[in-house]
Amino acid sequence: MITIEQVRFGYGARITLDDISFRAEPGSTVGLIGPNGSGKSTLLRLLYRALRPAGGTITIDATPVGTLRGRDLATRLAVVAQESPPDTPITVAETVLLGRAPWVGAFQGYSRADRITAAAALARVGARDLADRPFATLSGGERQRVLIARALAQQADHLLLDEPTNHLDIRYQHELLSLVRGLDKTTTIVVLHDLNLAARYCDHLVLLDNGRVAAAGRVDEVLTPETLEPVYRIPVRRTTAFGATQLLFGPSDDADQHHDAADEPPQATIPPGASPRARTSSRSTTSLSAGEARHDVGPQAGVDPSPAAPTSGDSTEATAGDTARPPAEIHPAPADHAPGGSAELTDDGPVGSSSTTDTREAATR
Ligand code: ADP
Ligand code: MG
Repeated sequence: MITIEQVRFGYGARITLDDISFRAEPGSTVGLIGPNGSGKSTLLRLLYRALRPAGGTITIDATPVGTLRGRDLATRLAVVAQESPPDTPITVAETVLLGRAPWVGAFQGYSRADRITAAAALARVGARDLADRPFATLSGGERQRVLIARALAQQADHLLLDEPTNHLDIRYQHELLSLVRGLDKTTTIVVLHDLNLAARYCDHLVLLDNGRVAAAGRVDEVLTPETLEPVYRIPVRRTTAFGATQLLFGPSDDADQHHDAADEPPQATIPPGASPRARTSSRSTTSLSAGEARHDVGPQAGVDPSPAAPTSGDSTEATAGDTARPPAEIHPAPADHAPGGSAELTDDGPVGSSSTTDTREAATR
């Protein structure tokens, strides 16, 4: 379990995260969502102790992360960070083996069991055939899978992933998240931009907006037009496809201004109860936070090809403003989720829990 209580942090005088509280229950998959610059990566850095909070507490299984020694932290927490590791001339197999480093004694080398674990992790992400390639020569998507394999090889029971589906094609995005969700004994916090992937593979979601928790709870509580529109400032429709919630997104008000409005049906969908900011939209960029201003990478459109009658959000849940304080506690998920299996990633291997990348980072602390 990962518990975050009233965490505050700023890179300088400016507050980046304020009063962040939520819990990731044992074995659950919590999706961390929110616009660019809302503080998702910063929060993960606090969790894996690359940064220290200015206030509040962060615990892993009731132990404050600040009191864990580096190696102890690395055996309990694996990280796949957004930043790529530096290019070093090592192979993929050696890269994945680094995940075993926290488990290796001071004067020991890797054991045969370590190599078997690492090889199984590589197979688990469908990358066995990359084993002998220099890591530096891989494509973005291949690198991402190898870093996830390294995290799996680490066999920590807590896992942090920052936009792990970046660079992956659609099939691998689903396979990866299906794999992550299938790690029943691993408590996972995953940053995702694609809200439809978040809907399908997360037990709970935490929506950050400008450094605060705008909403937290079950997928169907958080992924409502009423909650998302004021935060992302884009029209949202909710429907169901392939057995899961699917969101469809319209152009933002900005986009409308640059279009010939005559050939499109009205797009105005911000509900009357939305925050003033949502209604005034982005008339002036000077008032925007960094995250708000950098919305070049928005949520992706739904994959449902049918444009017909998307149902509008049926949620009666509170708006973001109502749910902002105090941040909701996240409750245990129903255990009956059915991850869509994928051939390659669901192989046999006895892979236990996850782990992560910043082995070096965590292990050296
Ligand atoms: P997200 O991951 O949600 O896109 P980040 O956590 O990366 O957001 O950033 C949150 C805010 O903190 C942004 O305003 C960003 O510009 C700022 N920020 C991120 N990293 C640094 C840093 N190293 N120094 C100063 N400001 C930073
Ligand atoms: Mg980020």
